[in-house]
Amino acid sequence: MSPSPLPLPRLERRELGSSLVVLADDGLDRAVGLSIAFTERAGGASQGPFAGLNLGAHVGDDPDAVTANRRALIGAFGAGEAAVVMPNQVHGTRSVLVASSSEEALAQAKAEAAEGADAVLSTAPGVGALLCFADCVPVIVASPTGAFAVIHGGWRGVVAGIAPMAARQLAEVEAAQGGAFSDVEEALAHYNAYVGPYIHEECFAVGEDVAARFVERFGAGCLPQEGHVDLGAALAQDLEGIGMHPERIADAGACTACAPDRFYSYRASGGTTGRHGAFAFRRARR
Ligand SMILES: [Zn+2]
Repeated sequence: MSPSPLPLPRLERRELGSSLVVLADDGLDRAVGLSIAFTERAGGASQGPFAGLNLGAHVGDDPDAVTANRRALIGAFGAGEAAVVMPNQVHGTRSVLVASSSEEALAQAKAEAAEGADAVLSTAPGVGALLCFADCVPVIVASPTGAFAVIHGGWRGVVAGIAPMAARQLAEVEAAQGGAFSDVEEALAHYNAYVGPYIHEECFAVGEDVAARFVERFGAGCLPQEGHVDLGAALAQDLEGIGMHPERIADAGACTACAPDRFYSYRASGGTTGRHGAFAFRRARR
């Protein structure tokens, strides 16, 4: 038997606490206790080119500031850092599955995530995930069961299909568990997908080789003007291709390179910049 359908996805800008700003879906939170957030730069302890809520380590920022920023975000959602998996992102297609919030399961997931992964999937209450971005496409997939996936898709990841792969993997896990969905297709048809801020086509000029790879994989529709790739269109095409509903795919509609005051953009900054985040946390059952 299927769980109640999720409300259609809606990303709305809101303040967290006194200074942080995120794009979130309160309806999802109310329905299944799953909080999702795409963070903005506002607030935070970082300075200079990293100014604001830089969540990325290894970008040259003061590690103490990054730690404080991560704590501020995670704490604002009532989560503890111990419950949040933060992978070492490597532009690959590996994902890490967290099926329990036990200390052992989290330790194992964190060890796998440290070896390199670009998606974190969780079917368990009391687990969170945080991935970092500066132009690449952040995607969060949410199930009516409260299960989720947080995915990092650079252009290589989009071509490789990391988002549909991770969504499908989550559906396979849920279908195998039984209870909520009788098969993978039923699960996928019930999922919401949230696409956060990324570099949009007007700012995403690519070389001929990259453009050719996109056209070969997605058709000419992902190249709205010569030498410019529409990552969001390619991604939506892939998600719909595995059976997700178009009305259940929400795009934040924000270009990182066009809004450097709100987001970190690798391209717009010339390379030295921070990272905003895609965060999900499902509250533990009481
Ligand atoms: Zn732009």
